[in-house]
Amino acid sequence: MPKFQVILDLDNTLYPFRENLTQLMQKHFVGKDLMKDYVHSKHYLNGSFFEWAFRTGYGKLNKLPSWSQNLRELGNTRLFTHGKPYDGAQELTDKISSLDGLVFILTHRGTIDSPDIYFDNGFEKTKQWLANYNIKHHRLIFTQKKVETMRKLEQEYNLPILISLEDAKENAVQMAQAGFTTLLLEKTYNNINSDSLAQELISNGKLILVKDLHEAREKLEEIAHKFEN
Ligand SMILES: [Mg+2]
Repeated sequence: MPKFQVILDLDNTLYPFRENLTQLMQKHFVGKDLMKDYVHSKHYLNGSFFEWAFRTGYGKLNKLPSWSQNLRELGNTRLFTHGKPYDGAQELTDKISSLDGLVFILTHRGTIDSPDIYFDNGFEKTKQWLANYNIKHHRLIFTQKKVETMRKLEQEYNLPILISLEDAKENAVQMAQAGFTTLLLEKTYNNINSDSLAQELISNGKLILVKDLHEAREKLEEIAHKFEN
C-alpha cells in the first residue's frame, strides 16, 4: 500500500534542460562559450540570455529563431529524447518506491489538453525518456498549474504529499506557501539571499535547499522516517 506521494519537477530537476538547450543554441554564436556563460549565469530559463548574447555581437545569424522555435527544435533532437538525466535521478525514484511512496512527475512541458503545444509528440517522447532511464513514476502530468494539480492529487489518491522537488524558486515558493514541504535545488538563478519570502519559508522549514539529487534523496529519507514515526 502506498503511504505518500512525492511530486517531482522534470526540467532542470531530473533532466538537464538548460544544458541541452544551450548546447543546441551554441551553433548560433561564434567565439562565445554559451555553456559557461548561460548555464552558470543568473538568467532563468527564457530567451533573454540568448537575445542578450546575440545583441552583444556574437551572433552569426541576422535574427535569432523565436523561443518557441528553439524549444520545438530541441524537442526534435536526440538531446531531448536521449539526453542523460542528472546524476542521482534513478536512485531518487528507486528510493521513493522502496519507501512505499508514489512518484508524480509534474512538468510545464505542455498542458493536459494540449500536451504537444511546445514539443512534437512531447508527451510520448517524455514517457519514453523516463522509461529509457528507469525513472520510476506512477504518473507523468503536463500542467501549467502545479499547486492546483497537487491539491487535486491529494484528494484523488487520498494520500498526503510528503515533499515536492523543484529547481525554480518561484514554483517552490508557491508550493511552500500552499503548505507543501518543498525541496529547492540550489541553482545559480535562484537568488535566495535577496528574497525575504523565501528566507522566511526556509526558516519555518517549509522550503529546504538541497545541492543535488543525492542530497534530495537523503532529505527525503529523513522526512519519510519522521512521517512514519
Ligand atoms: Mg524545472
